[in-house]
Amino acid sequence: MSSYQSPFERLRAKFDESNPNCPSCGYVDTECGWRVATTGSRVTYQFVCPTCDAVETRELRLGREP
Ligand SMILES: [Zn+2]
Repeated sequence: MSSYQSPFERLRAKFDESNPNCPSCGYVDTECGWRVATTGSRVTYQFVCPTCDAVETRELRLGREP
């Protein structure tokens, strides 16, 4: 077993710790969290607000560490 974490895994862990919140109504989701989709070198996090249907999208790009 290795404890090595790729930069992506670390970024992802950071995201997983944070609850998505709606930019429109301020609702904070504490249960479902983000939906994660990976496309090539991009990771898209999407959250659909259950109260007002606003969609919050954030994108992470894989690549060099800052
Ligand atoms: Zn909302």
